[in-house]
Amino acid sequence: MSLQSSKSTSPKVGFVSLGCPKALVDSERILTQLRVEGYDLVQAYDDADVVVVNTCGFIDSAVAESLDAIGEAMAENGKVIVTGCLGKRAEIIRAAHPGVLSISGPQDYASVMDAVHLALPPQHNPYIDLLPDYGLKLTPKHYAYLKISEGCNHRCSFCIIPSMRGDLVSRPVDEVLREAEKLVRGGVKELLVVSQDTSAYGVDVKYAEHTWREKSYQTRMKALCEGLGELGVWTRLHYVYPYPHVDDIIPLMAEGKILPYLDIPFQHASPRILKLMKRPGAVDKTLERIQRWRSTCPELTIRSTFIVGFPGETEDEFEQLLDFLDEAQLDRVGAFAYSPVEGAKANDLPDPVDEAVKQERLARFMERQALISEARLEAKVGTVQRCIVDNIDGDLAIARSMADAPEIDGLVQIQDGREAGLQPGEFVDVMIMGNDEHDLYGEVDYAAG
Ligand code: SF4
Repeated sequence: MSLQSSKSTSPKVGFVSLGCPKALVDSERILTQLRVEGYDLVQAYDDADVVVVNTCGFIDSAVAESLDAIGEAMAENGKVIVTGCLGKRAEIIRAAHPGVLSISGPQDYASVMDAVHLALPPQHNPYIDLLPDYGLKLTPKHYAYLKISEGCNHRCSFCIIPSMRGDLVSRPVDEVLREAEKLVRGGVKELLVVSQDTSAYGVDVKYAEHTWREKSYQTRMKALCEGLGELGVWTRLHYVYPYPHVDDIIPLMAEGKILPYLDIPFQHASPRILKLMKRPGAVDKTLERIQRWRSTCPELTIRSTFIVGFPGETEDEFEQLLDFLDEAQLDRVGAFAYSPVEGAKANDLPDPVDEAVKQERLARFMERQALISEARLEAKVGTVQRCIVDNIDGDLAIARSMADAPEIDGLVQIQDGREAGLQPGEFVDVMIMGNDEHDLYGEVDYAAG
């Protein structure tokens, strides 16, 4: 739960933000609008005149978490406005919590604000002048998510996001670059580019050109990266679908324009399973491309996600996946045992994998990858890594290297962080002295600084 607070006599709104980084961006937009209109944001249900819950509906456990959060807000406060992905399935919410005031889907900021106005009319006050022009953020001040599009044109058979969020709608490149510029002016040092499918950016608008800083940019992933590269902060790409034109941005990473980091969900390595998933299936080409990317940009960190136990997955096909891990030597990997999502096409596929087999495969998968991830981290011991400090904890500074996205990857513990006077948001060179399976530790490298 993420609530913000301030003391005033303004109407008071509580805010619960659940779900993925894309939902977080929606929350930030709504919170910004609430502050623009003079609403006060409070931490406790008791203090709130109304509570907004931004839900997630991606997998069954997220649905349950969202329903629980709504139930808690209903019990503690009683005036609840629901928005976000689960809002697309209003019947589930109404069945569990018939008393909610309003339900709307993701990115429907107008409906949320209408519902807030109805429950709690805004007061005229001068708060608008106090709002920083980069808006309110739920993330620490030094990094921010930058949402470049909504929706998705793919139809992966395990996913219901396109039916909830619709087809791809890209934001014009100049608008995204201006937002990034404002964030950087507001103190942001790291931009995290998010969307459902970052590499499809601009397809829907035929890569329309727009002007930013007197230069023309296409609404296209590469041009966007070139623009963001002008801002002099870290830019990290998330959710890059494995299209061939991903190759085009690797040189920008090698030149240091954007971080050498790719979050690229491969999902599986068996061509037949990938076909059933309705994902690109040329695994040999994927391995070749990974090698090419690494020869262009040796610093590249690749994070990926996989699904094990997809309907029909045989032991052989699962072993192909393990072989792929061995060959690809990915840095960071997340994996899920397949779980049917209501409304997904994959539910109609034959030969579901037994739950115990799924769990056993997941454990084997994680064990295999843990060795690879650990060895890749170990190879960094003795090197100097550029890091950004997230916070100070006792004597330590907790930081991340270029290879670590916030929330999902590992950390770099800087042993002498406090002594060195480091502050959150500061960049620092760190001599890496050790590692475990996830994290690195080291000391400030004064020579490099
Ligand atoms: S690309 Fe991602 S969002 Fe789009 S359908 Fe596939 S899994 Fe869902």
